[in-house]
Amino acid sequence: MAIQRTFSIIKPDATRRNLTGAINARLEAAGLRIVAQKRIFLTGEQAGVFYAVHKDRPFYEELCAFMSSAPIVVQVLEGEDAIAKNREVMGATNPADAAEGTIRKEFALSVGENSVHGSDGPETAAAEIAYFFSGLELVG
Ligand code: ATP
Ligand code: MG
Repeated sequence: MAIQRTFSIIKPDATRRNLTGAINARLEAAGLRIVAQKRIFLTGEQAGVFYAVHKDRPFYEELCAFMSSAPIVVQVLEGEDAIAKNREVMGATNPADAAEGTIRKEFALSVGENSVHGSDGPETAAAEIAYFFSGLELVG
């Protein structure tokens, strides 16, 4: 499997509880290298653009309000099979369904406030990275 890059977010529920370092330690222990990272505070509109794919879902407004309620940490992770590996380390969307040892099992508060985001495929990874980072900010 080739070296890939994926896009990751440490969500407001996690930054509020000072869990950035604990989550980064999990990512790094899994072999993912943080090649870009910044702490930002999204507007509701910016969150809406990022999650536009979910605009018809019943939880869309709640999701955009949550994602713009406190700072987030946006990251680019690099490694072997990074997209799938990150999804594995994150665990299932709903922490009640997440496997033992995953970030969401350990830290997530609910299906909405679930601590992390990870891209779900190569096209979304490329688009999400480009939404938040310039090429100059990606430092392997
Ligand atoms: P993410 O895209 O954040 O990595 P995911 O791919 O596991 O998570 P999606 O189905 O893409 O899950 O949903 C995006 C986000 O929307 C979830 O991470 C969660 O924060 C929120 N969400 C999903 N389902 C629900 C729900 N039933 N109720 C409230 N919020 C939800
Ligand atoms: Mg998703």
